[in-house]
Amino acid sequence: MSHSTTSRVQQYIGDPVTEQAPVAREKLEEIFQDIQGDLRFDHELNGCLNCGICTATCPAAHYYDFSPREIVQLLWTENLEGIHDAMQEKIWSCAQCYTCAARCPFGNSPGGLIMLMRETAIKRLKKRSDFRTHLLAYLLVNVLVWVIWVVVGAGFPWPVFVTGGWGVGLLMDAWETYGRRPVTEQDVQAEMQRLKR
Ligand code: SF4
Ligand code: SF4
Repeated sequence: MSHSTTSRVQQYIGDPVTEQAPVAREKLEEIFQDIQGDLRFDHELNGCLNCGICTATCPAAHYYDFSPREIVQLLWTENLEGIHDAMQEKIWSCAQCYTCAARCPFGNSPGGLIMLMRETAIKRLKKRSDFRTHLLAYLLVNVLVWVIWVVVGAGFPWPVFVTGGWGVGLLMDAWETYGRRPVTEQDVQAEMQRLKR
């Protein structure tokens, strides 16, 4: 009888529900920083007793697999994987009625926090979509100018200025889209402290 070199537990570490590869820790942190860095975050989240009053009064929780208490707990405990998972589907069930905000004994606004998560998700999607459009335009225009260069006799390689100059812009756009860390509340506080000195 042959034995596998990996145990059953090892095979399912990562995501036990789907076949998708686990999301990189840096990306999860970046998403959370994006949400937490919004200046409204500290006003919407003051702590959480896990009492469930928000879920008991939430109309969406009666109809969907959705609980504002769960969302607030994920943010309060900084459960990065849970936040990422909730952003895939659950947060889109909220009707933005803010009944929860009026009921929370801690003065939290679960609906407001969900709005921040939605804005983060949309902003990230839009940035990636805009970059893909930019990349497509770069490829099409550069193919065109190099074809023109060949057709007119392939003399001085003037299209290199288009390819190179625009290429730098494209790289900066790629850095902005995939590489740059968002400005956080901590960054703003640090800058304010620096200006006071
Ligand atoms: S957000 Fe407020 S109402 Fe909801 S579980 Fe936390 S403390 Fe309770
Ligand atoms: S704002 Fe969203 S989470 Fe809050 S009560 Fe309304 S539907 Fe529920």
